[in-house]
Amino acid sequence: MTEYFEKDFDIKNYTTFKIGGKISEAYFPDNIDEFVRLLQKYPNIPVLGNLSNILISSSGYDGKVILTHKMNNISIDGTTVIADCGVKGPKLSQQVCAANLSGFEFMIGFPGSVGGEVYMNASAHGQCISDNIRTVTCYRRGHGVVKYSKDDMGFDYRTSRCQKDNLVVLQAKFELQTKDSEEIKKQMDENLKFRKDHQPSLVLPNCGSIFKNPIGNPAGRLLESVGAKQLNAGEVRVWRNHSNFIVNTGNGTSMDVLSLMYELRERVKDTYNIALEPEIKYLGSNKEELKIWQKLNQ
Ligand SMILES: Cc1cc2nc3c(=O)[nH]c(=O)nc-3n(C[C@H](O)[C@H](O)[C@H](O)COP(=O)(O)OP(=O)(O)OC[C@H]3O[C@@H](n4cnc5c(N)ncnc54)[C@H](O)[C@@H]3O)c2cc1C
Repeated sequence: MTEYFEKDFDIKNYTTFKIGGKISEAYFPDNIDEFVRLLQKYPNIPVLGNLSNILISSSGYDGKVILTHKMNNISIDGTTVIADCGVKGPKLSQQVCAANLSGFEFMIGFPGSVGGEVYMNASAHGQCISDNIRTVTCYRRGHGVVKYSKDDMGFDYRTSRCQKDNLVVLQAKFELQTKDSEEIKKQMDENLKFRKDHQPSLVLPNCGSIFKNPIGNPAGRLLESVGAKQLNAGEVRVWRNHSNFIVNTGNGTSMDVLSLMYELRERVKDTYNIALEPEIKYLGSNKEELKIWQKLNQ
């Protein structure tokens, strides 16, 4: 069977950073069987969700990728919710709210997909995607489909077993708590207001927090103390209200972002002897960029 794909797929406008070049071949499965067939056929193919936490090279990626946005089924049965990996967090939080279910109020304010959020163990406002997980159905490359319990998923701050074992999230099953939808909505509105006051909106394209917070030392505070807010590279700059965000002010490129990240990390290393770890991921085939990315992860 030949699966549908697009050649030289221009990914830039699908990313929240509005940065990225052409992908040689992009696949868009819309059901689990098709998704698994692709993963069997192309064992190391990268899987991308809503592109809100990844920097894609402006020179593109010389390879195949899978985009999950067509994998978007949600089923709600009592307090049990099953969501495909491509379901967007804000949509899921609204649907469970309408069903008087609490646990996803945090998802309303940022643009991840369920797969990306499980992979990253996304969290905000005192809630975390792993809090309510019962099982995650994954594709284990080289093995096949495996269902993991929450305890098997190795969830920790901004990581999960998916990162260590290169697992692909197909679907997740959650158990939520019953609550009046008006109360849930009130909490979601508060979360949205907090974001408006403390984070850049996507009108200023960005990728969320750039670096992870070292234990006991918020990255934003460390960065601010080394003068980050004054820094820019090409057409990207550090957001003036919070130093752990980089915003694209026009035609920013991946090299602009990587150069700025490098400068930021060096400043913190020189001053505090702390090596900040990137929270965002990178995908590209540009050799120079790959070298910088490697240095950023040392
Ligand atoms: C304005 C803004 C605010 C944000 N606020 C927060 C916040 O408060 N808290 C927070 O935790 N994050 C936040 N983020 C970051 C981001 O939304 C999350 O990390 C989210 O979980 C990423 O999901 P995604 O689908 O966009 O993943 P992508 O960016 O598409 O991918 C991120 C990583 O996940 C992998 N991945 C994606 N789908 C799958 C899958 N099905 N199986 C296996 N791997 C997969 C990719 O390969 C990649 O390595 C914010 C981002 C923005 C732009």
